[in-house]
Amino acid sequence: MLNIGCHLSVTRGYCAMAEDALYTGSSCFQFFTRNPRGGAAKPIGGEDIAKFLELAKARGLNSFLAHAPYTINPCAAKPQVLEFARTTMADDLDRMEHLPGNLYNFHPGSHVGQGLERGIELIAETLNLVLKPDQTTTVLLETMAGKGTEVGSHFEELREIIDRTELSEKLGVCLDTCHIFDAGYDIAGDLDGVLTEFDRVIGLGRLRAIHLNDSKNPFTSHKDRHEVIGGGSLGLETFKRVINHPALRALPFYLETPNDLAGYKAEIELLRGLYDE
Ligand code: FE
Ligand code: FE
Ligand code: ZN
Repeated sequence: MLNIGCHLSVTRGYCAMAEDALYTGSSCFQFFTRNPRGGAAKPIGGEDIAKFLELAKARGLNSFLAHAPYTINPCAAKPQVLEFARTTMADDLDRMEHLPGNLYNFHPGSHVGQGLERGIELIAETLNLVLKPDQTTTVLLETMAGKGTEVGSHFEELREIIDRTELSEKLGVCLDTCHIFDAGYDIAGDLDGVLTEFDRVIGLGRLRAIHLNDSKNPFTSHKDRHEVIGGGSLGLETFKRVINHPALRALPFYLETPNDLAGYKAEIELLRGLYDE
């Protein structure tokens, strides 16, 4: 069965989020651990989480992907900004242990003029500070579109971050279809070629999740504007090939398309219909 879900809000609690997941036909889902604009995190634990875990087990919900806030920069130049990213990530990872064995995704960061090399060095340093040997969460580096000074729009950059991380067995990669297309990997024209390249540089074993998004912009635009599935430059055929590809089809797929819950429900139904059982 296709393991697919969408981005949900945790504002009303974990049980309410599970209900939203079930309404949309999701079997997995993504959520922000806290307000994406930053700020305090919703407490995690207690009765809500216990009930959530029970409900998830009973209804087959799995692969919970927590997304770090967009606003942190794990390779910031300013010490206080860097420190904020590190305390946020460390706190998120602590809290994720209430949902053992799941996933935490983050944007590697923007080097803000320090250069790629320095950016990569700082990101690895951040990971070396926040990863713990006994954590059960796999931390995912997201492939980026290459907007501004973003690090992580080339597979080689992610590889270097992984190589410099001591507890690299805790790391994986989340491939975002909109981002890599915007970055210059032609998954619409040559999916096999892109995956061969991913395997050569990073290794397909590191690939743990896919963000399914169409792109509002053309190939190599470096823009990062998501579009609904089939409504952008990637097109529905591309998504049919992505979800059915032998190297990808068993992974969890997460929609981050511009949709409300009803829109997600329709999109999930559409994609389930395109999956070869
Ligand atoms: Fe993201
Ligand atoms: Fe994404
Ligand atoms: Zn994006």
